[in-house]
Amino acid sequence: MPDQTTPETTWPPNYPAGYIPPDEQEHWSPGPETMPPEKRDALILAKLREQVRYAYQNSGFYRQFYIDAPVDPENLRTLQEFAQLPILTKDDIRQEQEAHPPYGRFLCVPPADVFRVHGTSGTTGRPTVFGIGRGDWQRIAEAHARILWAAGLRPHDLVMVAAVFSLYVGSWGALVGAERLGATSFPFGGGAPGQTERAAEWAAMVKPTALYATPSYALYLAETARAMGLDPRQDFAFRFMFFSGEPGASVPATRRLIEDTFGCYIVDQGSMAEMTPWMSNSGCRHLPAGMHLWQDIVYTEMVDPQSRRNLPIGAEGVPVYSHTERTSQPMIRYWSGDIAQWEMTDCPCGRTYPTLTRGIYGRADDMIIVRGQNIFPSRIEDILRSIPVFGGEFRLLLEREPGQLDRLTIQTEVLNYNPTAPDPLREEIAATLRRALGVAVSVDLKPAGEFERTQFKARRIIDHRVI
Ligand SMILES: [Zn+2]
Repeated sequence: MPDQTTPETTWPPNYPAGYIPPDEQEHWSPGPETMPPEKRDALILAKLREQVRYAYQNSGFYRQFYIDAPVDPENLRTLQEFAQLPILTKDDIRQEQEAHPPYGRFLCVPPADVFRVHGTSGTTGRPTVFGIGRGDWQRIAEAHARILWAAGLRPHDLVMVAAVFSLYVGSWGALVGAERLGATSFPFGGGAPGQTERAAEWAAMVKPTALYATPSYALYLAETARAMGLDPRQDFAFRFMFFSGEPGASVPATRRLIEDTFGCYIVDQGSMAEMTPWMSNSGCRHLPAGMHLWQDIVYTEMVDPQSRRNLPIGAEGVPVYSHTERTSQPMIRYWSGDIAQWEMTDCPCGRTYPTLTRGIYGRADDMIIVRGQNIFPSRIEDILRSIPVFGGEFRLLLEREPGQLDRLTIQTEVLNYNPTAPDPLREEIAATLRRALGVAVSVDLKPAGEFERTQFKARRIIDHRVI
């Protein structure tokens, strides 16, 4: 059975095609799922060492990307050394794929050996392309089967995949995992006009026991079903639902609402399409919210969004993901841009993985780039809060006329605002900010209470730059 408890002797691993544990067994691969984390680190290091060496030797991109790396990419000795490799961003992928279309020099196999092409749609820029080899696709299936097993899926289940089958890899990932596990799959799809009514009809007719969708789709399905005179608890047979694509599955109120609506439990999942097997962030059937990090499948580091240094368990930061067994288009130290907090939990499932206890709940995209410098509103907030007259709220105004440099104006509230004599104070605050940020900024003073307060993350950036 595929129970790797010792560092690999072969890379990438070969998983026996027909393996399925007995129904009552909690873990698909008890070894790596329940071993002490320090012991698992040795297994992960062995896999990452092979993964990085392979990428360095077979990908023109990584060969160049690691040219100045302070460690030897062909022989990483520790996870700390691994953490010294440069971080890969979505922009790096876009630029590389633009220069070397379609895959960039990420591809480590001949293009003819690509088994599937997937990608992101490019709503916020050039689309990104993933070429996935046949062996990789089989390992993705294995990983998703193993993780769905933890979610409670068994071969007697019938899985309805009610999400669009397209370029986006989400639905395909759910399908291939369910198939590998031996469940009956019902690839229903989504997105066509009238399809939700048909989904309700079909769910009432064939009685799927598990649903893959997004949390908001599940609620929409319930609403549609009720409008058709169906009762989502009585007329459907969903035992559990697994979701990705939105944070709702770890938001307590949304979660409770869905569970009560359908009389089922739900499991939150999902890292990023680029990182498929994207289920490597996944809860289990016992976890009340959040997602375990299946570290031996995709290795996750938590990184400080500003210093980009690795953070210890307990910290909040940006998950940075690495494939550990990818031969076609490996992503190594990929910056997710998400915000999450990782902790060790005592989950009744017995898995010893770190856990994103609140799932993924934010984006680090609030980072702004001014004249080539990365600036975080949180850093500006820190500086302003250290100024005794700071009035509690601020806004960042970004402007640029064509052909000119960016102009950043920090509009800050101050106590005892005096519109007739603001200059010395304004200059003092501007000087403090310039020193700390390393870029030229202007400051506008506003009276305390000028800006709207919100208990949620405030939108503090006003970007008027002409692209
Ligand atoms: Zn668990």
